[in-house]
Amino acid sequence: MKGILVILDGLGDLPHKQLNEKTPLEAAETPNLDFLANRSEIGYMYPVKPSFIPESDEAIISIFGNELISSTRGRLEAHGTEIKLTRGDLALRVNFATIDSLKKKNIIDRRAGRTLTTSEAEIFAEELNKIKIPCEFILKPTIQHRGVLVFRGGFSDNISSNDISLNLRGDSNKIKSVKALDDDENSQYTANIINEFLEKVHEVLENHPLNEERKKKGLLPINYLLVRGAGIEKPKLKFYRNWLSVAYMPLEIGFSKILGMKVFSFKYPKLKKIDVYANLHKSLKKACKLSIKTLKKNHKKFDYAYIHLKETDLPGHDNKPLEKKEMIEYIDKTLFNFLKKFAVKKKIKIVVTGDHSTPCKLKRHSADPVPVLFYNDSPPKEKIFDEKEARKGTLGRILGKDLFKKVGFV
Ligand code: ZN
Ligand code: ZN
Repeated sequence: MKGILVILDGLGDLPHKQLNEKTPLEAAETPNLDFLANRSEIGYMYPVKPSFIPESDEAIISIFGNELISSTRGRLEAHGTEIKLTRGDLALRVNFATIDSLKKKNIIDRRAGRTLTTSEAEIFAEELNKIKIPCEFILKPTIQHRGVLVFRGGFSDNISSNDISLNLRGDSNKIKSVKALDDDENSQYTANIINEFLEKVHEVLENHPLNEERKKKGLLPINYLLVRGAGIEKPKLKFYRNWLSVAYMPLEIGFSKILGMKVFSFKYPKLKKIDVYANLHKSLKKACKLSIKTLKKNHKKFDYAYIHLKETDLPGHDNKPLEKKEMIEYIDKTLFNFLKKFAVKKKIKIVVTGDHSTPCKLKRHSADPVPVLFYNDSPPKEKIFDEKEARKGTLGRILGKDLFKKVGFV
C-alpha cells in the first residue's frame, strides 16, 4: 500500500466558548496525530472552491478529482443500498422530518430531533410504501432520519428540492413544492408526481398511531419527507480501481462503489433508544475497528485506502463541541494510534482531512477551509495539526480537486 486517505466528516471548526475559544481539533488531546503531524506537511484546503459551502457529496466528488456536478446525491445514496436501479429510475435522498402543517408549511425540525428509531423508521416506511400514485416507487429507510426514495420509470431529474437550502438557510424555514427546472413536459410530470406523493405522505403520517405515541413521550412527530439530490443516472466519475474503501453510510458506500473501489463495510448499529449520541459512539467504535482490521488484512492487495468517518460531522450540526472533541480523541486513541506504527513501519503515506467544515457554533457546514495533514515521514519539526497551524503550513493552500496531485496519490 502506498497511501491512506482519512476523511473526518465535517472536521473543520471555529473557536468555541465552551472550549475556551479553541476549536474541537485544537482542544482535543491527540498525541498520535501530533506524532504524525511532527513528520508531516500541513496545509489547508477548500474542498470545492473558496466561498463555496459544500455538501458531503460535492466535497468528495471534488476531492476525488471530478468537476462539480449536480443531481448526484440521490443516486449515490441509492447505490449504497441494495435497491436495484435502472436508467431513468429517479432516486432521491430523503429526510424523515417534522413540519407544522401542509398549510403553514413551517419546518419544525429537518431531522425530527434525531429521535427516529430504526424500528419506527421501518414501520413508517412500510405504511408509506402502500401509498397509491400513478407509478411504482420504493422508500427505503437507511440510517437514523435518513432514507432513499426511488420512483421507477423514465423520469426527469431536472427538478427542485422541497427542502430549504441546506447551508444558505435564510429567514425562510418553509417547505417548498417541487418544481420543474425546465419546460420539458417530463420535468413537469415528475414534479407533479412527487408533490402528489408528498401530500399523501403527510396525510398518512399525521395521524399515525406511532406519532400519537411519540407526542405523548414529548417527541416530535414524523410527518413529512424532505427530498433532495434527484438523479436519474449513475454519475460519471473518475475510476479508482486500486483503492479499498471503508464506508458505512449509504452516500460513501455508493460513491466508493461507483468509483470502482472495493468496499469494506459493517451494518450500522440500530438506533433503539432516542440517544443518538450513544448510537454514534457505537458506530464510530465499529468503524475504527473495521478500518484497522481492513488495513492489516488488505494492505498488500491495494495501493490506496479511503477511510471516511461520518460521526464527527454531527456534533457540528448540533452545536456540541465537547462531543466533537471527544470523537476526535477517540479516533486518535484507536485509528491514529494504529496508523502511527503501521504507516511508519510500512512506509505508507497518510492524508488526514475533512470533507468540509461544520462549525459547532454555526450548526451547519461553512465555507471555511479544512486543515490537511500529509504524513510523508518528513524530518521532525515542531508542528501541530489544527485549523490555525494549517494556515501557516508548508503544504499551503489547496483546492479539493488538486489534493491528490499535491500529495502524489495517483
Ligand atoms: Zn460531510
Ligand atoms: Zn453535515
